[in-house]
Parts: sequence; C-alpha cells; structure tokens
Amino acid sequence: MANATVTFTCGHHETVTGRNRAEAARKVKWLTEKGGMCRDCEYAATISLAHEAARTNGWPALHGQSTKQVDFAAVKRAEALKALPVLLSGISAVADGWRDTVAEAVAGELPDLYRLAVYDAGAAILHSAPTEADARFWLDSDLIDRVASVLSETMIGHAKALAAEGLIDQRTRDFWMRLKNVSDVRSSLRSVHL
Ligand SMILES: [Zn+2]
Repeated sequence: MANATVTFTCGHHETVTGRNRAEAARKVKWLTEKGGMCRDCEYAATISLAHEAARTNGWPALHGQSTKQVDFAAVKRAEALKALPVLLSGISAVADGWRDTVAEAVAGELPDLYRLAVYDAGAAILHSAPTEADARFWLDSDLIDRVASVLSETMIGHAKALAAEGLIDQRTRDFWMRLKNVSDVRSSLRSVHL
C-alpha cells in the first residue's frame, strides 16, 4: 500500500491510498485533472446553493431537529423542485395514457374528465410542495414517489368506478388496477424524468 496527497481547488489536502506508489500517483493525477473541491467544501457549496435557491424562489425557511438536518433537507428540496417542470410533463404523459386507456372502454367526455382528474391530482402535489417547511417532508420520501401514489390511487379509483357502473368488467378492472400500481406509475414518471 502507498499513500499520496492530493490538493483540491479549495486548497484542502486529502490522502489517497493505492496498492502501490504508481496507483496512488494515478489516483492523485485523476483527482487533480478532475479539478474539484474536497468533499466537505463541495457539500458546503451545495448547501449554500440550496439556501440561495430558496431565497431566490421564496421557499420558506425549513425547520427541523438540527442545522445538519435542515441543511440536508434544503439540498433535497432544491433538487426536487428543480425537477418540477419535468415531473409535470411526466404527470401529463401518464394522464394522457390514462385517457387513451379509458377511451378504449367508454366514449364521450369521461376519458377527458379522467385525464384531467389524474393531471390535477399530480399537479396539486407539485403546487403545494414548495410551501412545505418541515425538513422531514423532504427527507422522508421522494416527491416522485408521493406523486406516483396519488396518480395510482386516482386511476384505481376510476377503474373501480367504471366497474361499479358496469362500463368495464371485473377482469378489465383487475387488469387496470394491476397496471396502475404505484411502482408502474413511478417508473413511467422516472422514464420521463430522465
Ligand atoms: Zn476543501
């Protein structure tokens, strides 16, 4: 084993370890060429950017159990809210898909009404998310997961209603309910997200 010292752009040093001197030197070269700050400085910079984004966008100050928790939640919030426009198009795509599915079973206004219900349910979460000031909201679960659960619940509600009205049969209802489970919706949201 061999150690070598790398100096980051922030001026801090870190010791890197390699199996031998050549490998330690290669790691130092790679890190130097990459040209970043040390991990602590990089995280501190991410935190200030997150707080700055909050000031710029008028998001509330977060409250939590410690400064450390609040800082981490602020970073998670900034990441999540940055992705809002893309997430909204994901919701729109899921709602469009649902309208088309419903249109296979029923004619008239219902497919469009259901489309709107799905879209509104998802959009409402995105609309209220920026006002969430509890650090735990941002740490406990992913915004995409919250949206996916609500979209899934809405579509399953529709499938149940259609079956109750006799507009689709039980087998079709069960098929749609399986199709619209949370993980299925989550993966379609994520695919738009990427
Ligand atoms: Zn540093």
